[in-house]
Amino acid sequence: MDDRTRQSYVFSFEAGDGKNKQLLGGKGANLCEMTQIGLNVPPGFVISTEACLDFLDSPDGELPAGLRQAVTTEMKALEQKTGKGFGDGDNPLLVSVRSGSALSMPGMMDTILNLGLNQQTLEGLIRQTGNARFSYDAYRRFIQLFGKVALGIRDEEFDGPFEEVKQRAGVKADVGLSAENLKEISERFLAVVHEQTGRPFPEDVHYLLELAIKAVFRSWSGKRAVDYRREFNITPEMANGTAVNVVTMVFGNMGDDCATGVGFTRNPGTGENEMYGEYLVNAQGEDVVAGIRTPKPVKDLVQDMPEMHRQLEELREKLESHYREVQDFEYTIENGTLYCLQTRNGKMNAAAMVRTSLEMAEAGLLSREEALMRVDPELLEQLLHPRLDPAYEAEPVAQGLPASPGAASGKIVFDADRAELMGRAGEKVMLVREETKPEDIHGFFASEGILTSRGGKTSHAAVVARGMGKPCVAGAEGISVRAENHQARVGDHVLHEGDVITIDGGNGNVYLGEIPTVPPEFSDELRTLLRWSDEIATIQVLANADTSEGAEKAADYGAMGIGLCRTERMFNAPDRLPLVVDMILANTTEERQVALDRLLPVQREDFRALLKIMAGKPVTIRLLDPPIHEFLPSERQLERELGHLKQLRATVEGMEDLMGAMQLLRGKEKAASLAASLPLAGEGVELIDEAIAKKRLMLAKVRELFEVNPMLGHRGVRLGITYPEIYAMQIRAVLEAAAQCRNDGLDVHPEIMVPQVCTAQELRRVNVIVEPIQKQVEAEHQVKLDFKFGTMIEVVRACMRAGKLAEVAEFFSFGTNDLSQSTFSFSREDAENKFLPFYNENQILQDNPFEVLDVNGVGQLMKLAVEWGRESRPGLKVGICGEQAGHPASVRFCHDIGLTYVSCSPHRVPVARLAAAQARLMEQSSEEGLATTSSV
Ligand code: ADP
Ligand code: MG
Ligand code: MG
Repeated sequence: MDDRTRQSYVFSFEAGDGKNKQLLGGKGANLCEMTQIGLNVPPGFVISTEACLDFLDSPDGELPAGLRQAVTTEMKALEQKTGKGFGDGDNPLLVSVRSGSALSMPGMMDTILNLGLNQQTLEGLIRQTGNARFSYDAYRRFIQLFGKVALGIRDEEFDGPFEEVKQRAGVKADVGLSAENLKEISERFLAVVHEQTGRPFPEDVHYLLELAIKAVFRSWSGKRAVDYRREFNITPEMANGTAVNVVTMVFGNMGDDCATGVGFTRNPGTGENEMYGEYLVNAQGEDVVAGIRTPKPVKDLVQDMPEMHRQLEELREKLESHYREVQDFEYTIENGTLYCLQTRNGKMNAAAMVRTSLEMAEAGLLSREEALMRVDPELLEQLLHPRLDPAYEAEPVAQGLPASPGAASGKIVFDADRAELMGRAGEKVMLVREETKPEDIHGFFASEGILTSRGGKTSHAAVVARGMGKPCVAGAEGISVRAENHQARVGDHVLHEGDVITIDGGNGNVYLGEIPTVPPEFSDELRTLLRWSDEIATIQVLANADTSEGAEKAADYGAMGIGLCRTERMFNAPDRLPLVVDMILANTTEERQVALDRLLPVQREDFRALLKIMAGKPVTIRLLDPPIHEFLPSERQLERELGHLKQLRATVEGMEDLMGAMQLLRGKEKAASLAASLPLAGEGVELIDEAIAKKRLMLAKVRELFEVNPMLGHRGVRLGITYPEIYAMQIRAVLEAAAQCRNDGLDVHPEIMVPQVCTAQELRRVNVIVEPIQKQVEAEHQVKLDFKFGTMIEVVRACMRAGKLAEVAEFFSFGTNDLSQSTFSFSREDAENKFLPFYNENQILQDNPFEVLDVNGVGQLMKLAVEWGRESRPGLKVGICGEQAGHPASVRFCHDIGLTYVSCSPHRVPVARLAAAQARLMEQSSEEGLATTSSV
């Protein structure tokens, strides 16, 4: 390592580059930035993430060469800036040693406060401040935090002595403890450390600082941090180590003109443009977040400290106008002076993200484009989650703070490990705690929602739940949680593990039992944002919908048509299935035609409903795709049914014998009345015989239709070619439905789509059926029809022959479910059940290609097919209707290769609309990027 790199391990807040989060971590970069724009930040410096990585790499566990020296130099500078001395018994300098990586991982790593205290400086602090209570409070906090973070002593070791002193003093809250009490606590804490480590608590402040720095570095690879990164897919490249921030301490716990708080520049639950947050008078940093005392809402500060409230509003203004993003900040008030200790971009739920984007754009803080780029499309799905049925009347049993919106029900569990265990077993669980700590994180992942009986809206539980988009009610003080007995009490109720409760994170209510939910409504803000998206996007968003309910939902979510209607889904409805079965059992074309004639009106009505809902927009109808034996029961099931029926037949015959005997036994009249009450009396045997005959026929058919590999068998267009009357019926149903709609004055655009095509000949064979039917229908209904004929592209050969196919097809639609299967030669079910998880974990494949489009393989085929297709038919309409189509990265790719539309399931339509706009914007900015680089 050369000298130059060594020097750049450490940066003072005045000198560090506020843009370089990779190097300084998010917290450090922002502390530098805030210092440099003139906000009141206590003096300090940042040790870079590079130093952290070098330290973690070094085999000897020593700080990298030069770092100790650089820290000493910066500490000297701090002494000068503050006029205090580190370890100085008269005028001691105290600092915090704080973690902070490039990506915010709230509470996942460690921080130590009040470093610089020892027996000597403690005396100095008491003399200097004249406040023994405060000094001992700072000291006992330091011993515990340092003991925990740097020496690995568990909190529980300190809890015992602490509670003992508290009880003896007869006080409930920590603030009630006297100087004398706190002094005793400090002494007992020192003893705990001695006992646990076998050594007295270190006195040398420089040594303490070094241990603290190392401990914070190490917290980067602690269990909490590693779990968190794994859950949020934070790769090592994205977050490279933690920086360490050494910051001069300011004290919110020196008396009643002191406070500490956290705030958001806007409400992160609703997006409302008002300062949001909480504070505690006479408290130190972590008290607010830890949920030890329930803090006050920031509006109360107007009464408590009006001037401080005004300054806080000013700080909020400055932060937002500088960062142009909602900020989540920490502050401390020391004897009437406001210090800002941290800022970062606020984590918000989807509703708040949408609303703030809209309002910040309307206020001119952001451009529309920036406002759209700011929202993660995936977030929008949250808005489509259900909420509690407002019509359902239920009395809440408790109320807490609405800490993270959404409604959820689940079985109560009292600790994170249990939550994880039960969640894995597929149970819906609700994590119920007095308060949560960072080490509970794995329990959050497994839970439907989180309920705590202590802590505020900025408590750990609230912040983490919001980040995850999970409902949370915090500080529901009416509930007393006794985790150790696996019990909680609310009024007269005792709740046990496994009891179901419901929480509403939107208003803080808690209910016993499960409460029904209703589907959410689109907010006006979301509609506006998506309207802006549509104006910018060039690729369209359609939906996959088979039923009128699906189509209505899709239309409401803003789908610009239906990109895939799977006609077989309609066949499976109970009133249709008998007709379909008859069609399959038919042995001759004539017999089949009889069944098809009965199916025709049913299909026509289905299509009419879809066309009507989507009037003015395209409706793509795929002809029958699956192998027809899918509509029949399995061989096993039929064999079982036949067995039962034969038994039943013998039983009924037995009953008839019984009836014969009855006359002899009971006389004629009595026998007649008994006979009438027997089941299956009369036509019993005939009915059973009929059933047996039908099932035998079905069984024979199932055996005849058996295929070794149905996925690659007699299905799709192959079926349509061998049984042209099936496709003819469906085509007629589409065109008749369209003709009727036209005559009803509707502007409809059906598109007929053929599945599984691999040669142009196949497509031609279907195409020739269309024309005569079209002529007939047009003549019968006296209308001119406007429709398209096209093909799915879901077979590799179809991609290779795209040029030829486009001579017949007026549009292509990539069926990327099948195309991915055929490109990888993976069958989806087998892959997902057997080896794909292993492939993903071991990075053999980055993603599941059935969820995220495999751009490098499948995508290349698509690109070729688009190119060749448009060579033979310029302007060819091309879309994608596989499940991947709703995934933002896939939308981006489809945009880039020039597809006309993506078609996804209705609930993904809003996600895809925003992703479509972002795709266009990203393309524009990379074009501009190219333009500027080429001009350089
Ligand atoms: P986290 O990343 O977990 O929030 P922080 O490093 O921000 O950890 O610190 C934890 C708490 O201590 C915060 O409330 C913070 O405001 C407070 N704190 C950190 N440094 C100081 C300091 N120099 N003076 C006063 N309070 C501090
Ligand atoms: Mg913090
Ligand atoms: Mg398919």
